[in-house]
Amino acid sequence: MTNPFDRAVIVGGSIGGTLAAAAVAPHFAEVVLLDKDHLPDEAVFRKGVPQGAHFHALLAAGRQAMDELLPGFAEHAFELGAARLDSALDVMRLDRVGWSPRFESTLEFLMASRPLIEKALRDQAHQLANVRYDSGVEVAGLVGADGRVTGVRLADGRNIEADLVIDASGRFSQAPEWLQELGYPAPSEEVVNAHWGYSSTFLRVPENWDPGFRALAVTPFGEGALTPEAASRAMAMWVVEGDRRWILTAQGSGGDHPPRTEEKLREFISSIGVPELDKALAEVEFPEKISMWRDTRSRLRDFAGQPDRPEGFFAIGDAWMGFNPVYGQGMTAAALEARDLRSVIEEQLTEHPKDLTGLAGRFYAKADALIKYCWNSSNTLDHRIPGVDYTVDGEPRTVDASSSEFSDRLAAYMGLDPDRYIKYRETTQLLRSPEWLGSDEVVSAVKAHWDELGRAIVPR
Ligand SMILES: Cc1cc2nc3c(=O)[nH]c(=O)nc-3n(C[C@H](O)[C@H](O)[C@H](O)COP(=O)(O)OP(=O)(O)OC[C@H]3O[C@@H](n4cnc5c(N)ncnc54)[C@H](O)[C@@H]3O)c2cc1C
Repeated sequence: MTNPFDRAVIVGGSIGGTLAAAAVAPHFAEVVLLDKDHLPDEAVFRKGVPQGAHFHALLAAGRQAMDELLPGFAEHAFELGAARLDSALDVMRLDRVGWSPRFESTLEFLMASRPLIEKALRDQAHQLANVRYDSGVEVAGLVGADGRVTGVRLADGRNIEADLVIDASGRFSQAPEWLQELGYPAPSEEVVNAHWGYSSTFLRVPENWDPGFRALAVTPFGEGALTPEAASRAMAMWVVEGDRRWILTAQGSGGDHPPRTEEKLREFISSIGVPELDKALAEVEFPEKISMWRDTRSRLRDFAGQPDRPEGFFAIGDAWMGFNPVYGQGMTAAALEARDLRSVIEEQLTEHPKDLTGLAGRFYAKADALIKYCWNSSNTLDHRIPGVDYTVDGEPRTVDASSSEFSDRLAAYMGLDPDRYIKYRETTQLLRSPEWLGSDEVVSAVKAHWDELGRAIVPR
């Protein structure tokens, strides 16, 4: 069968770009991913993805969507050294409602460094005969005429024609400016900044190390903090490749940013007040440099609500919504959006063979529910952080610091029963619809045990 269209161009050959390429590949003679960076063959840090030095949790729904779009992704990642963790048995998690229950479960996590996840995806995409990466090519704008984007303008002055252009250039995407250059309005932009900062480093752990977990996440900040300093602090450490390469990330909110030197970073983490964490930390070495990240704003560009847009162009991944990374949603959202893209392009071409008119609108309409869900869930948490800033198109707005009384009790209730707990984890991993959490069955059970559950909201 011949493909109905000649070329799709994707700006950015990272996670969002690679998955978008897989989604549209069946319909184009060629899909070209342009990346300004030099994309390495190995799973190594690269400057086009500076966040690659920090921990990247892949939610179970993200892994599932990646496997659907690029079959064999997860198995390949495991072959490259990713760790396979039982989400309840191997993970020790301390939050505002205490330690999460530990037991053997069927919910598996794939834990890896960010460069490894990207390599595993790209290796799978290389197997698609009509997909190719063009490295070291920077896109500087769009080319368009008569209400349609017809290609991209490169920084070196060349133009590349395309039937479809997808912007997957990440959180620093210039898409609003590019649209304005063509005479279209920029999308409205909301920004929430709870002033989180990160410090991360890769660890060397002793041979056959058994600290009692393969991942540890400590997030009892706010009212659940164990020490006064910990009110703004969180951390996680887990195995990322092989048995001895672990990553450590410390996070501080409201401007309480973790430091860069080993001694100060150890002090920062120790101030959280968890003896199990102090013991583990005393047994590991910091052989690599400590990387910092400060720009953790959540930024939503309302592409779905744009009153006027050209045909033949849309944004995906962080170019659409750049997440506060603390909640680990970015890669998963990019994967779920790409899965939506695969289904809308099939629908579009079934209804209108050889016509992509309306595809951008269809795609935004379909993926918007997910985007807004992720936006609301991370903001509910960020809005409670002292000093949080919220703007719409640059204008300051008041935050809705809604009470956590119900959500904390809900989390405590879920931890009381293993089956219910796994169902809950599947929901937070975006594998299940969140509707169940608001169902009469769950809400009335939480209300019936309100005081008892309230007493659980002390970490230990
Ligand atoms: C500190 C930090 C920690 C994070 N932790 C997590 C986590 O735990 N879990 C999670 O799911 N997500 C996490 N994220 C988010 C995650 O990194 C992104 O959501 C994910 O990478 C989105 O992928 P993307 O392809 O949209 O953008 P990116 O991965 O940022 O890729 C953009 C690509 O576009 C290229 N590019 C940019 N401009 C141009 C141009 N003009 N021309 C050509 N190429 C261009 C870049 O070189 C790059 O390759 C974190 C982010 C940060 C900042």
